[in-house]
Amino acid sequence: MAYSNYFNPEETLDREGIERLQAERLRSTVAHCMGSGFYRKRFRDIGLSHEDIKTLDDLQKIPFTTKQDLRDTYPFGMASIPLSKCTRLHSSSGTTGNPTVILHSQKDLEQWANAVARCLWMVGCRPEDVFQNTSGYGMFTGGLGFQYGAELLGMLTVPAAAGNTLRQIKFFTDFGTTVVHAIPSYAARLHEVMCERGVDPRRDTKLRTLVIGAEPHSDQTRRRIENMLGVKAYNSFGMSEMCGPGVAFECPEQNGMHIWEDYYIVEIIDPVTLKPVPEGEVGELVLTTINREAMPLLRYRTRDLTRILPGECPCGRHHKRIDRIKGRSDDMIILKGVNIFPIQVEQVLVQFKELASDYLITLDTVDGSDYMTVEVELAGSNIDDYAALQTLERNITRMLRDEILVTPKVKLLPKGSIPQSEGKAVRVKDNRKQYQ
Ligand code: ADP
Ligand code: ZN
Repeated sequence: MAYSNYFNPEETLDREGIERLQAERLRSTVAHCMGSGFYRKRFRDIGLSHEDIKTLDDLQKIPFTTKQDLRDTYPFGMASIPLSKCTRLHSSSGTTGNPTVILHSQKDLEQWANAVARCLWMVGCRPEDVFQNTSGYGMFTGGLGFQYGAELLGMLTVPAAAGNTLRQIKFFTDFGTTVVHAIPSYAARLHEVMCERGVDPRRDTKLRTLVIGAEPHSDQTRRRIENMLGVKAYNSFGMSEMCGPGVAFECPEQNGMHIWEDYYIVEIIDPVTLKPVPEGEVGELVLTTINREAMPLLRYRTRDLTRILPGECPCGRHHKRIDRIKGRSDDMIILKGVNIFPIQVEQVLVQFKELASDYLITLDTVDGSDYMTVEVELAGSNIDDYAALQTLERNITRMLRDEILVTPKVKLLPKGSIPQSEGKAVRVKDNRKQYQ
């Protein structure tokens, strides 16, 4: 059957069309936000009326919304519609202080499913595909978010949920799974267990497409996973505050993630001065939702660091592309005055074919000085050649020092030594006194 390349007509809008629609939706969103006690007060406090917001430039007049605002108004203080009109909530774990709650109306859930379906369609998923979701279901939005999106597209969906790797692999072979959604660390784990069980993904499965996201990973890691599983892997970006998955997604060009500008207005700001950075420069991603009903967020500071990729995408879509997420501003390690992102360490480690993909960065204070240890698992089981291991350790240390400008202690470990986490991989353990 011949299908269109596009799931929605909004994908084909040119810049003028996108911006016209955004201005229209911004005006109605801001008016709608006056139904929220939080935004009403915010606007009143600075003498701003919702009628002052007419053009996209007027967005700059609106104060930022932060995660702290969501915590302070926990659980329902941000809602713009009565609770009786809401049909679902998702909540974050809240390891630090109050958790946060995101409310959805039925229309919000439909729009969210549409965004996810659009992303999946863009990378070639069609109703003939079998889609297996290895995300946790429940509060984690990667579960239900992908489920409803894949169903709307019309794929046969397998809600396998997280864990039980042997069962996941059995589903691949029994159900003829062609598309999988997994976080990058789990995609590598799937391959590892397939190898142990003598399952060759190319020979024994129909896997073709992998959707990976939810945690920072480098392009080298993506290529490595693609080679392992014999698939094309597409980066998927989302967060609970913006519904969940479906915010930005790579197209078949695999060259940055298109952010759906009929859903969001994108800004990149300097996290210190809070002023916009010039296009192409890295800063904090700020998003305004323009088609949400239950709980729209205006200029929400995501704390994710990225940049807008300049230029046109050869796929023909004019929705802006964001670069891979470099990390969260609060993931940044400051060691001996140097700013380091875990992803920089990963970019070095992935270049050594002797290493597996699991690693852990530990920070300690010894005699008043801070030290970094990088533990990483070896790929093979042959760890008897002591001299070769020492050389390897030295080479890794040197390359890490060149990249992050401090010298870590590198420890090579046998495979399986680093504990696996259930959800997103834990890459940093900070034992330093001031951080406890
Ligand atoms: P939590 O805040 O508990 O991690 P979320 O599931 O809402 O819950 O996580 C959203 C965050 O995950 C984003 O703000 C971002 O930091 C990270 N993230 C999501 N997708 C990606 C991706 N493709 N690449 C890198 N980081 C991502
Ligand atoms: Zn594109």
